[in-house]
Formats: sequence, C-alpha cells, structure tokens
Amino acid sequence: DKNEIKVIFDSCSENESFARMVISAFVARLDPTLEELADIKTAISEAVTNSIIHGYGGGKGDIEMYGRIDDREVVVEVVDFGVGIENIEKAMEPMFTTRPDIDRSGMGFAFMEAFMDELKVESEPGKGTRIVMKK
Ligand code: ATP
Ligand code: MG
Repeated sequence: DKNEIKVIFDSCSENESFARMVISAFVARLDPTLEELADIKTAISEAVTNSIIHGYGGGKGDIEMYGRIDDREVVVEVVDFGVGIENIEKAMEPMFTTRPDIDRSGMGFAFMEAFMDELKVESEPGKGTRIVMKK
C-alpha cells in the first residue's frame, strides 16, 4: 500500500494550520491513534514554522511538503529554499535558538525528535533546508 502527496504553499503563518490539516487528512487512512496523529501534526507544525520564521525570516518563499505512506510507515518532509543552517548539530541542541529576540525557545527540533521515530536535517547556507521525518 503506497501513496505520496506533494504540496507547495507560501511561507505565511496561516499555512501552518493548512499543513497540519493536510497531513492529518493524508495519514487518516492508516487509522492512527489520536496520539500518533497529534505527534505528526506537532512535528509538521514545528518544521513549517521554522521554514517561515527562520528560513524565510518572515518574508515570502515556497515551502514544499511531502507525505509518503509505505505500508504502515509514514514519511513527511518539509523543504524550504531560505537561508539554511550554518551548524546543524548546534541548531538541533535543545534550547538553542538564534531568535531569543522574538521569544523562540529553541525546542522545535527537540519536539520533532521526541514525537517522531526518525529525524533527518539537511541544510546548506544560502540554499535552504530539508527536514525528513518518519513514524
Ligand atoms: P522554537 O521552535 O522553540 O520556537 P527555534 O525555532 O529557535 O525555537 P528550533 O526549532 O529547535 O528552535 O530551531 C533551532 C534553530 O535552528 C533556530 O533558532 C534557527 O537558527 C535554526 N533553524 C531551524 N529551522 C531552520 C530553517 N528552516 N532555516 C534556517 N534556520 C533554521
Ligand atoms: Mg522552531
């Protein structure tokens, strides 16, 4: 049982809830528990928010979201073409943020890691960032 979706949307905050709704509709056919569903939605939210506020710094840009179901495994990806991440290891440390000025707490990656079974971050400064998560 295989299925894949690709969605491209603008980097505006309204689209955080759009991304959450799309991904929950997509995984619904696997009959996830409420907890599994909440985990995936939270992880997607964190990744999309990061693309909006860090990747594009609040400006306009494309965000691509992929969903893939392969048997019972769910793979989700969030891609932006923004500023990228200089030091990925550092960025993934809990409570590390480059935006304390706007009250970010540096917990996004920690949540993605906790709520999903696998988290992969690929990024190149000036090119953008790709987050791949599995559950
Ligand atoms: P919080 O998620 O708690 O609001 P945060 O976004 O700063 O705070 P993380 O989501 O863990 O924390 O991200 C850590 C840091 O990684 C960010 O402060 C930012 O510097 C960098 N980062 C994360 N995602 C991206 C991205 N898509 N593009 C550029 N930089 C990013
Ligand atoms: Mg974040």
